[in-house]
Amino acid sequence: MVNSFIIDLFYYILYVILNNMENLEKSGESKEFIVICAWCGKKKEGEEWIEITPEERVQSEKELKVSHGICPDCLKEAEKEV
Ligand SMILES: [Zn+2]
Repeated sequence: MVNSFIIDLFYYILYVILNNMENLEKSGESKEFIVICAWCGKKKEGEEWIEITPEERVQSEKELKVSHGICPDCLKEAEKEV
């Protein structure tokens, strides 16, 4: 039960990431665009993934174009589970 849920979630996130990339390419926008890890909520800053507070996250989602991705740590965890 738990495993199949994690696999579904994993594929859902991959689907969301791919969709986001497509939309980004279509719109041609790269400014004011941030990536937040859908698993742990860290924000991507350049090559780094940094922790942000829920308040910062809500604020970012209001002001910026937010894309949900997955940080390397969570990807590692997810791959382990799958
Ligand atoms: Zn993460």
